[in-house]
Amino acid sequence: ETSAPGSHATLHARHRAVMPDWLTTYYQQPIEITHGEGRHVWDAEGNRYLDFFGGILTTMTAHALPEVTRAVSDQAARILHSSTLYLNRSAVELAERIARLSGIPDARVFFTTSGTEANDTALLLATTYTRSNQVLALRNSYHGRSFSAIGITGNTAWSPTSLSPLQTLYVHGGVRSRGPYAHLTDAEFTAACVADLEDVLGQANGSVAALIAEPIQGVGGFTTPPDGLLAAFREVLAPRGILWITDEVQTGWGRTGEHFWGWQAHARSGPPDILTFAKGIGNGLSMGGVVARADVMNCLTANSISTFGGSPVTTAGALANLTYLLEHDLQGNARRIGGLLAARLSSIAATSPLVREVRGRGLMLGVELVEPGTDEPSPRAAAAVLEAAREGGLLVGKGGREGNVLRIAPPLTLTVAEAEEGAGILEDALRTALAGLREGRATP
Ligand code: PMP
Repeated sequence: ETSAPGSHATLHARHRAVMPDWLTTYYQQPIEITHGEGRHVWDAEGNRYLDFFGGILTTMTAHALPEVTRAVSDQAARILHSSTLYLNRSAVELAERIARLSGIPDARVFFTTSGTEANDTALLLATTYTRSNQVLALRNSYHGRSFSAIGITGNTAWSPTSLSPLQTLYVHGGVRSRGPYAHLTDAEFTAACVADLEDVLGQANGSVAALIAEPIQGVGGFTTPPDGLLAAFREVLAPRGILWITDEVQTGWGRTGEHFWGWQAHARSGPPDILTFAKGIGNGLSMGGVVARADVMNCLTANSISTFGGSPVTTAGALANLTYLLEHDLQGNARRIGGLLAARLSSIAATSPLVREVRGRGLMLGVELVEPGTDEPSPRAAAAVLEAAREGGLLVGKGGREGNVLRIAPPLTLTVAEAEEGAGILEDALRTALAGLREGRATP
């Protein structure tokens, strides 16, 4: 049974009747995206949107990038099987490239189908290697929603059960601008977080396997720690044999502009022991993976841990996507265009009583919204801005513990003109949302 043309109006009702209640969608009338090109997507009703969220950062380079489409369709036309029992040329080449790019010496790569599965594998490695199931994570973290990933996800809104196979110890270092360490300088914040880490370790019951951290928290609202914070953590952890897992699911592939990986802003103490990635590498294909030092990766005795560990169609597409990214210096583009966009958003913020802070790096920018003129997080403002931006033809995301942070993470091929256009739409949307809130029209 397929949808007939024009059936979009009932699609939301059908979705609600058949999908789980907890599967949230954006917008009062959710969008059915039918196709895309470059930085734009179209919906089933023919509306065109400038895409500043790229499907939660999955569209890394561009929508319908011909190089990726060709690689996927060529492979799909030959064969669509998947098994780690046979050799796959594009998987080997992709793994070689990622191993080199990772910065981890003697790195080994295992492909997964999602970021959650990559983190799950990273935890399996770290806990097996150290024979400990105690893990450190940052408050406000998001690492996925498998049974183990929930156990290292700091916000209860994103971790629907308290049961976990892990014993998790949460430390400060995520949210920077609120909480007990707000208003500290970078050096003071780093020192306070290190002291907190030492305190937590002092109370740990036996050995600790690893620290897992997002270099910039994604779902958590693009919180930006001071450069070097994770290096300072590592200097405490490494002498105790505690591994460092960097979750690069959102920060990888040059999105942050200055660096190819988020961890490189914290490189002083050397590379991480384990790196996880997903989202953007597949440009929309289900692809993730874990990179680890050979001794860590090889501590498992299992003969494989999945069937879809790099199926030919995803590795072919991801390889074409990565090649395009590197050949066109999209990291440089993220730095340049991200810088322009951040400056433009900051000047808009200066005139809007809804905006508390603009933050982020490269093309990973967060706009934190508050009740007009106060310091109180405003999820209803974020919802209203999302609706108004959509009306104006712009898709953005939201996140943050209170759901009050706009998340801007467009495909990395974004042009100056598109950055300007998107910022203009957002400026109008902030104005519309503010008027709505003042008239009491906005819904939470
Ligand atoms: N880690 C981070 C930092 C993420 O942002 C996400 C997804 N939002 C995940 C892990 C989980 O990835 P996936 O949804 O592909 O399982």
